[in-house]
Amino acid sequence: DGILLRVEDLQVQIGTDDGIIRPVDGISFEMPAGKTLCIVGESGSGKSLTGRALMNLLPDRMKITRGRVLYRNAAGQQVDIGALPPRGPAIRAIRGAEISLVSQEPMAALSPVHTIGQQIEIVIRQHLGLNRKAARARALECLNDVGIPRPAERLDSYPFEFSGGMRQRVCIALALACGPRLIIADEPTTALDVTTQANILDLFKKLQAEHGLSILFITHDLGVVADVADQVAVMYLGKVVERGPVDDIFHDPRHPYTQALLKSVPTLSRQRVHRLAAIRGMVPSAFARPTGCPFHPRCDHAIPGVCDQREPPDIALGAGRTASCVLLEQAKPAPARSAASRS
Ligand code: SF4
Ligand code: MG
Repeated sequence: DGILLRVEDLQVQIGTDDGIIRPVDGISFEMPAGKTLCIVGESGSGKSLTGRALMNLLPDRMKITRGRVLYRNAAGQQVDIGALPPRGPAIRAIRGAEISLVSQEPMAALSPVHTIGQQIEIVIRQHLGLNRKAARARALECLNDVGIPRPAERLDSYPFEFSGGMRQRVCIALALACGPRLIIADEPTTALDVTTQANILDLFKKLQAEHGLSILFITHDLGVVADVADQVAVMYLGKVVERGPVDDIFHDPRHPYTQALLKSVPTLSRQRVHRLAAIRGMVPSAFARPTGCPFHPRCDHAIPGVCDQREPPDIALGAGRTASCVLLEQAKPAPARSAASRS
């Protein structure tokens, strides 16, 4: 059905001395094959942990406590990634090979004491079982693919010898090395200047077109979303509050949080600086999670006695769209003009 990965009611929990926190709290969405899904949200929304949960790559004290991550693997089998032992062979055959990660800080993802050729070759030899010579040829191909000039020479360079933008290209080459089907890119352009950012976004689009990659793009930046997304999932405090095709989300946002986010952005040109700062109030701490709708303390439409009491359900709005807000409950299923409303 063209769906590469289906997340169903995913919950991630961490036990702390001060109690249990659920940074990802029952989210559902789908990743269409060969497309880009952007998860957009403020810091603390749980978007990065969602990306890591999809690879079963959570920090030590966190675990998936509910839900499924259903992935259709290269052999055509459906695998629940969340149910695989986090360090076992089954997940290792997927992680880094079929699904790979590009993170915000390229320096942290690379070893400073090995050349980039060595680093890419190790991954290739581990996953694809190629000999040294074939691995080197494949590494060269990857550097070429991501637009690094003089790739044959650059294979023997160390990470510090590259600019920030080129270093991120190296990380993307590393992520591509084993021919993945899905790349999870967590704020991959946030640390870069605007021009370099635009070049890297163009690179993702080129790679997607050439290799049919699915991309999960995690960002706080609506300008980035406008540039690369096919589908959008808006996260707030561990919930996906709205999702749908990018044009629908931008032109007809239905959830008050999405509406507020879009109002906070002056224009969607990527030449501008984008921030999600204009919504009144602060994102509450994970320990002080609001009851009912998590957005109610900041929502201009909150209904006292309702929004602070009852968690709104995901409401299907048609055409792959959902939003979770009580205001939309009456609206479903989006009717043509009824006899009653004409009277
Ligand atoms: Fe606002 Fe209530 Fe809708 Fe939450 S459920 S977004 S508080 S109106
Ligand atoms: Mg993050």
